[in-house]
Amino acid sequence: MIIKVLGSGASLGVPMLQCSCVTCTSLDPKDKRTRSSVLVTVCDKNILIDIGPDFRAQALQHKISSIDTLLITHEHSDHTAGLDDIRPFYFFSKKSIPLYANVRTIQMIQKKFHYFFNKTDSSGCMTLHPIDLDYQKIKLYEDIIMTPIYVQHDQLSILGFRIQDFTYITDASKIDFLEIEKIKGSQVLMLNAIGKNQHRAHFSLQEAISLAQYINAPKTYITHMSHWMEPYAKVSSILSSNIFLAYDGLTISLV
Ligand SMILES: [Zn+2]
Ligand SMILES: [Zn+2]
Ligand SMILES: [Zn+2]
Repeated sequence: MIIKVLGSGASLGVPMLQCSCVTCTSLDPKDKRTRSSVLVTVCDKNILIDIGPDFRAQALQHKISSIDTLLITHEHSDHTAGLDDIRPFYFFSKKSIPLYANVRTIQMIQKKFHYFFNKTDSSGCMTLHPIDLDYQKIKLYEDIIMTPIYVQHDQLSILGFRIQDFTYITDASKIDFLEIEKIKGSQVLMLNAIGKNQHRAHFSLQEAISLAQYINAPKTYITHMSHWMEPYAKVSSILSSNIFLAYDGLTISLV
């Protein structure tokens, strides 16, 4: 399995427009954080998790040649605004792309992107698969099982995804005990933290570190970082040896 971080930033990206803080003005490429998304390549399938407003640029930069499945954590724009740019993949492949998300997110997509489902040249570009709360495991392909992880994002119930030994959690502010159990045993955990200070809708860095230590995956990467997360070099110097900040373009191989 190859995990490529297409974006590691929160909803406004880093640098944030108009801001001249130390993170936003950092010259380190690892401090350029586009909106969060990862591409998981497993058994010759490209599985994209979230498709934010930077997707087109991310796909061009990383020369993404195909998307086989889309997994969407929740309906917020920083995770869905790039959906229009999925259409060229369909125009060329002529294969409808399965999209998995919770019922609320599916309803939003049907409303906002209604032209995907009417008689236009985009119709048929994706098939929608709602994930109900009682789904424990979903067979994406013969060899690829995905486990949805139900997490809280302030008042919203949203999804995280475990694919084999990789778990991706973004925009969480609380995870119940039984859901944490589903994450345990992952070799690589990607977990969100907005920055140093507490936030009602997102883990802080300290909260994410505490949870990462409890789950104790061999490697945990922090993602969905705003400019409140100080520069990569500074934060990395205080992290323990199995916790890292993700950055755009980071590639992780997992056998
Ligand atoms: Zn977000
Ligand atoms: Zn800033
Ligand atoms: Zn969100």
